Amino acid sequence: MTKNPEKHSPYFNLKDALKEKHCPLCFLARKSVTRFFDNLLYERVNDPEIRGSLRLADGFCQKHFWQLLEFQDATGISAVARGVLEFAVETWSQNPKGFSKRRRAKVLCPACAIWHETEENYLGLFLENLNDPPIMVAYEHSFGFCLIHFMAVYSKVEDKEKRTKLLKIQMSKMESLIKELADFERKHTYEFRHEGFGKEADSRFRAVELLKGCSDLLRDWDEFKRKI
Ligand SMILES: [Zn+2]
Ligand SMILES: [Zn+2]
Repeated sequence: MTKNPEKHSPYFNLKDALKEKHCPLCFLARKSVTRFFDNLLYERVNDPEIRGSLRLADGFCQKHFWQLLEFQDATGISAVARGVLEFAVETWSQNPKGFSKRRRAKVLCPACAIWHETEENYLGLFLENLNDPPIMVAYEHSFGFCLIHFMAVYSKVEDKEKRTKLLKIQMSKMESLIKELADFERKHTYEFRHEGFGKEADSRFRAVELLKGCSDLLRDWDEFKRKI
């Protein structure tokens, strides 16, 4: 493997994301959406381009509009919602059909667009680095991909040896999670209650994340887990 001095920030973002306790693609996509909201609220609420795309999309999808409400900028959120409502009233007063489901379905929620773009970019970057030892070592020690992202990665790898290796790593993560879940359930029984809980205590959260991906509804997933 030759040294590559050209490695740029997305590569290191990916490498760092592989150290997180989340699916790296979900983590990076969620980070991009959060950055987009921060940027929108602090600098771009009045940006004509953003305002235009928000109006056409009727704002954000349900999930992302609720996520926006978790941010601390009440007046920024108010301005976003007002702009979308004003446009809806204006459109509806001119032509009620213009407010139809059909039109709305054509325009993707801007936050969903950011999510999809980020996951596609980093998925491609991971695939480009299947021969890169630091990335592969980081992957072996990572949380693993959620099943959705694992299938997306796996389906794009043509080399049989690489596919087998990826599958082996992913399966070992799933198997150890199954053991943790079983241990968690066992420790809830009267007989084993005295043992107390270890790292398996939050295994159910990690299992849902592995099965369905990381929620981007919650800004601080770890904080949420601590409250449960
Ligand atoms: Zn994922
Ligand atoms: Zn969305």
